[in-house]
Amino acid sequence: MPTYNAPIEDMMFLYEKLRNNKNYNEIEKYKEVTPDLVKNILQEAAKINQNIILPLAKSGDENPTILENGVVRTPPGYKEAYKKFIEDGWTSLSCDPKYGGQGMPKTVSAFFDEMISASSLSFKLYSELSIGAYNCINHHGSEEIKNKFLPKMVEGKWSGTMCLTEPVCGTDLGLLKTKAIEQKDGTFKISGQKIFITSGDHDLTENIIHLVIARALDSPSGTKGISLFLVPKFIVNDDKSIGFRNGVSTGSIESKMGIKGSATCVLNFDSAVGYMIGPKNKGLNSMFTMMNLERIVVGIQGLGISEIAYQNSLNYSKERKQGKSNNSKSNDSADLIIEHADIRKSLLNMKSIIEGERALCFWLSQQTEVSLYHKDAIIRKEASDLVSLMTPVVKSFFTDMGMEITSDAMQIYGGYGYTKDQGIEQLYRDNRITPIYEGINSIQAIDLVFRKLVNKNGDIIKKYINLIKKDLKINEEKIKPFIKKLNKNIEVLTKFSDWIKEKMKNSKDDASAAANDYLKVLGLVATAHAWINVLEVSYKDYENNKKFYEEKIQTASFFFNRVLPKVESYYLTATSGSKYIMDFKFN
Ligand SMILES: Cc1cc2nc3c(=O)[nH]c(=O)nc-3n(C[C@H](O)[C@H](O)[C@H](O)COP(=O)(O)OP(=O)(O)OC[C@H]3O[C@@H](n4cnc5c(N)ncnc54)[C@H](O)[C@@H]3O)c2cc1C
Repeated sequence: MPTYNAPIEDMMFLYEKLRNNKNYNEIEKYKEVTPDLVKNILQEAAKINQNIILPLAKSGDENPTILENGVVRTPPGYKEAYKKFIEDGWTSLSCDPKYGGQGMPKTVSAFFDEMISASSLSFKLYSELSIGAYNCINHHGSEEIKNKFLPKMVEGKWSGTMCLTEPVCGTDLGLLKTKAIEQKDGTFKISGQKIFITSGDHDLTENIIHLVIARALDSPSGTKGISLFLVPKFIVNDDKSIGFRNGVSTGSIESKMGIKGSATCVLNFDSAVGYMIGPKNKGLNSMFTMMNLERIVVGIQGLGISEIAYQNSLNYSKERKQGKSNNSKSNDSADLIIEHADIRKSLLNMKSIIEGERALCFWLSQQTEVSLYHKDAIIRKEASDLVSLMTPVVKSFFTDMGMEITSDAMQIYGGYGYTKDQGIEQLYRDNRITPIYEGINSIQAIDLVFRKLVNKNGDIIKKYINLIKKDLKINEEKIKPFIKKLNKNIEVLTKFSDWIKEKMKNSKDDASAAANDYLKVLGLVATAHAWINVLEVSYKDYENNKKFYEEKIQTASFFFNRVLPKVESYYLTATSGSKYIMDFKFN
């Protein structure tokens, strides 16, 4: 079974040294979230993740969730762990104190998300969608609905789901068939089938609060006629006690490649009582509040799984002896595989991507908080544009890198990585869902290219590039070679962005076929930008923690020499256009 040590030192480095975003620091309510408090939280988080949640990964994989006599049973150990999880208050970490939450910023909850994704993604999913549903209800629900449902969800006694997908509608939600019929009392009767619903049913909580998209009878077809409804598994009485069973039942649960401990359900809604959330026919807008935040969290899932894959590969390569290394000085017939240049390259590739991503995620978490809570509406809007630009990048880039890293981890283990004993192949299988759910990665790339680069507030990508350039004005000689490399790649990103904008006007297939490559380029440049912020501190503060900072500088050196140059090849590939792709006749 893989081991895991939560990377608290790196997390605290980010929280203490990179929390220098002026706008973020102006948010009044986070002034009391001191580094000491955060360190305490992270130490407790590490304990529950390493000691209680990590062992659930294997048990969930070997004893998948089952549907038995109409009840969905989670794997052995899940119930006890969930009880402790909610008793310790982990479901309430980032929620509003008004509903019993701890009010921690995303700069902190993202660290927790990373730890629990590394420990057991299946177990994490039971509370993850609840937080998403909480966010959506908190933004769009009436006071009555919020008071009725949020406290129990924050406490973790009730969980939440997100019900979009149907047999005929996955990416294209406009095709949805689930119907909502308005009743005299203002409630709706919801009927239809939803598939692939994460935590759609299970035995961990007393109630499950489904957020369901459906079409009212008099609504137009397509995405403009979709409304959002809250549909509880059990009706909640006015005194907040649990009432009768609503018309929601579990048809089946999916047998899957990975995340086998997570219940992925077919849910049948049969005249189930539903309450409309947000305005009629604006359901997708409301749902996107949940999905945008969720997408960043899915990116973090990829980061967490990458971290545990890296840690175990590193340990293994310090134990396994095979072949003599080129510069061997030992008399043994074989050296540790960590002596081989190829293995070292693979490990550094993982480490440089993971630490860069973590710094980028921290930057984005600060921007997200500014976009939600800064007192100045213009500053909020500017941050919101940046978050909206970077959300598909973090979702897709981090999860794609998660595939590369978990695959390389198996490679480092050789045959022992492919067999089940070491638990490494499970990381690959568990991560494989992350590029698919919450919007397939290619669709994220298309969204980035067609909707996020330029919007009604202007040329967002240009603003972002200018923001990076401003951050590169650093008077430290040792950083200059890194800056020079990043500047060269910013030029490529700028050329690529101009090419995309041009193609969107007259050759959309060229832009679509380039979208994935473009997203990778933006992901690599954004990660390099995050690394520059890390390097700036590393040189400034060097004398105070030489060993830590030396490692940072060397890891960054790998990233700038070995990872960042991939930008050029993505650009060249993508700008070859799409004619030869679209003209091909498949037989
Ligand atoms: C384990 C698991 C958990 C899930 N959890 C949830 C959940 O909790 N709630 C929920 O609502 N859903 C959930 N889903 C559903 C998931 O979000 C969908 O599978 C996903 O959105 C893709 O839809 P689809 O599978 O129908 O693929 P499709 O939409 O049919 O896509 C098939 C392929 O076509 C491509 N494609 C589609 N449209 C376009 C286009 N316009 N341009 C270019 N390419 C296109 C896609 O990129 C993809 O490669 C889950 C799925 C799984 C497997």
